[in-house]
Amino acid sequence: MAVNASQPTPAPPATPAAPPAPATPPAPPGSPVADAYARLAEVYSGLRVIERTAHEPAPRGAGWVGADELAAGGPALDAFLAWDEAQVLKDYGHRARPDVIASFGLHRYAWPACLLITLPWFLHRRVPRLPVADVAFHRTLGRMAVRVSSFACLPDDPAAALPGARVLPDEEALRGEVRAAVAEHLTPVLEGFAPRMRRGRRALWGTATDEVVESLWYLGNLLGEEQRATAELEALLPGSTAPYTGAAGFRTLTGPDGRELPTRDRASCCLFCTVRPQDTCVTCPRTCDADRIARLAAAPAA
Ligand code: SF4
Repeated sequence: MAVNASQPTPAPPATPAAPPAPATPPAPPGSPVADAYARLAEVYSGLRVIERTAHEPAPRGAGWVGADELAAGGPALDAFLAWDEAQVLKDYGHRARPDVIASFGLHRYAWPACLLITLPWFLHRRVPRLPVADVAFHRTLGRMAVRVSSFACLPDDPAAALPGARVLPDEEALRGEVRAAVAEHLTPVLEGFAPRMRRGRRALWGTATDEVVESLWYLGNLLGEEQRATAELEALLPGSTAPYTGAAGFRTLTGPDGRELPTRDRASCCLFCTVRPQDTCVTCPRTCDADRIARLAAAPAA
C-alpha cells in the first residue's frame, strides 16, 4: 500500500506487489455498488472487487480465503497468517511475535474489507450488507469477491426501486447503517483473530475503528476529496458509537508554509514499531505535533 502525505498509517502494506491479474468480470446487471467499485479500481490499483451473482459460488482455493474461514479461526487463518510471518521475516530479517503477526494480518484484511461498505456510501449513499459468508479475499492479487443481496439507500435514490433495496429516511439513519454493516461483517472476523491477538474487546474495536477511518481517508485522498472524507468520517464516528472505540479523531496542523496538514490520533496500536522501532506512526498518540508537522510537510502533496 503506497503512503501519501496525509495517509500516515505505517502499517505493513495491505497487499504485496501484485502480479498481472486476470480481467475483472462484469458486475451483475442492476448492481447498486458496481459504479463505486469501478471508481475504486480507477484510483487504487491495490484492490479490485468482483461481484458474484446470487448463484455463483464463492471462489476458493489458489490464494482465496473466505471471510467466514478467517472468522472460523482454524487452518485457513493459520495459512493466511503464515504469509504475514514470512513477509516480516523476508522484509525485516527477523521474526515478530505471534500477536503482532495476527495484528498485521487483521489489518491487511480489514482495511480493504471496510471499503467494500464505506466507499459505496461515500460515493453514492448506498450501503451494502456483507455478512462474512458473502466475501472472499485474494491477498496477493488484491481482489475481493462479494455477493451483494441487500443494501440501504436514501428515498431519492433511483436504486431504491432495485431488488434488495432498503430505504432509510435520512443521512443519519444511513450513517447508522454503515456502522451496523461494518460491525456485522467485522464482529465474527475479530472473534476469529482475537485469541491470536491477545487484545481485549475494546482494543479490537479500536483496531476496527482505525481501519474504517484510515481506509476511507486514504481513498478520499486518491479521489481528490480528502476534506469531504474527513468530514464524513467525523460524522460517521463522532465517539460513543459502540462497538467502535473512540472517534474518527481528525484535527488539522499547520505546516511551515501555512499548508493545512490533516492528522488524527489512532484508537489502537498497530504494533509496527515492535518490528521497526525507528518507524513510528505519524498518527500514534505518542507522536508529538512538531514531529508530525515535520514528517507531513516533508511528504509530497497527494
Ligand atoms: S506505539 Fe504508536 S508508533 Fe508504535 S506501533 Fe503503536 S501506534 Fe505505532
